Amino acid sequence: MNRRKTNEVFIKDITIGSGHPVAIQTMYSLPLHPLSEREWYEQLLFTLRSYATMGCDIIRFSYPSSDHFETFRAICNDSPLAVVADIHFDQKLAIEAIKAGSAKIRINPGNIGSKNKVREIVSCAKDHACAIRIGLNGGSLPVRRRNEDPVAVMVETALEYTDWFESWNFDQTVLSVKHTDVDYTYRSYKELAKQCSYPLHLGVTEAGSIVSAVTRSTWALGRLLSEGIGDTMRISISDDNMYEISAAKEILRTVGIEHKGIHLISCPKCGRSTFDSQSFVKKVEHKLLAYKSDLTVAIMGCQVNGPGEAAHADIAITGIGKRVFLYMKGKLVKEVLSDTAEEELMKAIGEMIDAQ
Ligand code: SF4
Repeated sequence: MNRRKTNEVFIKDITIGSGHPVAIQTMYSLPLHPLSEREWYEQLLFTLRSYATMGCDIIRFSYPSSDHFETFRAICNDSPLAVVADIHFDQKLAIEAIKAGSAKIRINPGNIGSKNKVREIVSCAKDHACAIRIGLNGGSLPVRRRNEDPVAVMVETALEYTDWFESWNFDQTVLSVKHTDVDYTYRSYKELAKQCSYPLHLGVTEAGSIVSAVTRSTWALGRLLSEGIGDTMRISISDDNMYEISAAKEILRTVGIEHKGIHLISCPKCGRSTFDSQSFVKKVEHKLLAYKSDLTVAIMGCQVNGPGEAAHADIAITGIGKRVFLYMKGKLVKEVLSDTAEEELMKAIGEMIDAQ
């Protein structure tokens, strides 16, 4: 697939645009605590490390107050993921977040107050090698244009801001034009991709719970990605961040951009099942994201159809009650108890990766 040609933008150790892999982003969903709460801070770093292991590249934090400066500075320093600050209304907070070590900030220049204040932010970002995402949402368009076509308004507004940034010789710009309506989102990104060469951060805003968010994102973002458009992405889900990361990886794999990692096949389960394959999948699916090797793992609910349905998988698990059968390359290699099935599956994956 031919990816759209764009400028390169550097976000700490991640380079986006110009054919680099599509970076996966998520957003921390809780308020920050004072740095003196060490247990909370260690737990936060543990969480960020687990997101990195699952394949996430970038994490965004809200930065709504100077009270968070010390905590945010420590996170920028210690995080295994590139850190982005989400700023609204106040250029002083943007400048603080940049000075704290933010790799990128996300602003909507329209709510910062004035062009001069935006210029102060851009100048500080330039001095500190910080990228800026101009992030426009359908809900935050200029009031005077709310009755116009949202696609035209979002694209024209984004390009007006990039003109400002260019006049200040700033080129580390990323753009996003998210909308709750998938068609507006799709058309806005398509149009923007035609009219500029900046990397695009893809997302459908406020996309809802897992089912609606993944469906909407696959429809809008999957189409854009399959047309070569998109350099970073966040699947916005009203649920655990791990779903955002796994959904982004799955969409990238589905459209054929990312091939590495475990391809999970699991049956829906039916009246024939005596092995609880659904619970087993829930237990292991996030752990499987940590593997970079190209393997197919099948988790099937019964011993009648399971082996046949999983014959093409590298590794398969099926079961009868508490007895679980492990297959490698279509051959039965072990029968284990369901209590140890997870451990045996991970061991089998490790052995197959070592043998590759
Ligand atoms: S593998 Fe077995 S349990 Fe799963 S859907 Fe097929 S028949 Fe039903």
